[in-house]
Amino acid sequence: MHTRTHGHPSIRYRHSDFQILVAAEVTRLKPPGDQSLLTSAATVFDAAPPSAAAFTRAELLISLAVFSLLVAIVLPALAHDRARSARIICVNNLRQIGAAMQAWGNDHQDLQPWEVPPVEGGTKAHPLAVNVWLHFAVLSNELASARILFCPTDTGTPAFDFGSSPEGGYLSPNYRNAATSYLVAHRDSTEPMVMTVADRNLLGAAPRSCVVFGMALSIRVPSSGQPTARWGGGLHNGVGNALRANGQVDQITDRELLDVSYYPGSDNFPFDFVAR
Ligand SMILES: [Zn+2]
Repeated sequence: MHTRTHGHPSIRYRHSDFQILVAAEVTRLKPPGDQSLLTSAATVFDAAPPSAAAFTRAELLISLAVFSLLVAIVLPALAHDRARSARIICVNNLRQIGAAMQAWGNDHQDLQPWEVPPVEGGTKAHPLAVNVWLHFAVLSNELASARILFCPTDTGTPAFDFGSSPEGGYLSPNYRNAATSYLVAHRDSTEPMVMTVADRNLLGAAPRSCVVFGMALSIRVPSSGQPTARWGGGLHNGVGNALRANGQVDQITDRELLDVSYYPGSDNFPFDFVAR
């Protein structure tokens, strides 16, 4: 607490004394009721040596520069981390789907749902078989959660369970394909490295058929050169994650699509996917 110091050239006031002094000065400068009083008072309070003001400006500039630098460093790192964690979740989803397919196959002569007729619990030639969700619905007893059918980078709505509730049930028309981020390449799984389930965002493939809730396309695979399909930019920025027939999950580039969509004796590689 400052105390009054009589007889000294630089007199210091207690804070309350200072306020009284300022109030008196304000009253002297302007009549009461004048709105510009506040401006005058502020002028009195803000009176500071020019050097102090200059220092404050310099400090502000430095703070802004440091802040901008931090933003420039941290934001891309955060975006990179988000993309990386999304990729990890997606790869993990596909691994679990692969495990579910293997478990399902153990009860069905090592076949997949699209290779087994409906009377035996599969989806082969089922009237709705072009809907990709149907294949996953058949696998549902082997899947830990309906959420793993949804890639974190996708639009749409993940389902909570495999019920038919309009609020979160995978079998409800509100979910189904909207809750499905993965395509199904329903070739016989005889080639171990061939893609069976993958991110759905393949573009440029030749349309084969189309129904209300889904679409089936095929990658045309010329004997040399590039496949006619490529990954769209929407999900993982120009690449996709793919589960191979042997259970392995890899990130696949456009060029590598040729290798994962190989099928002996055919230049077409059909798959069901969801367009949105
Ligand atoms: Zn994904």
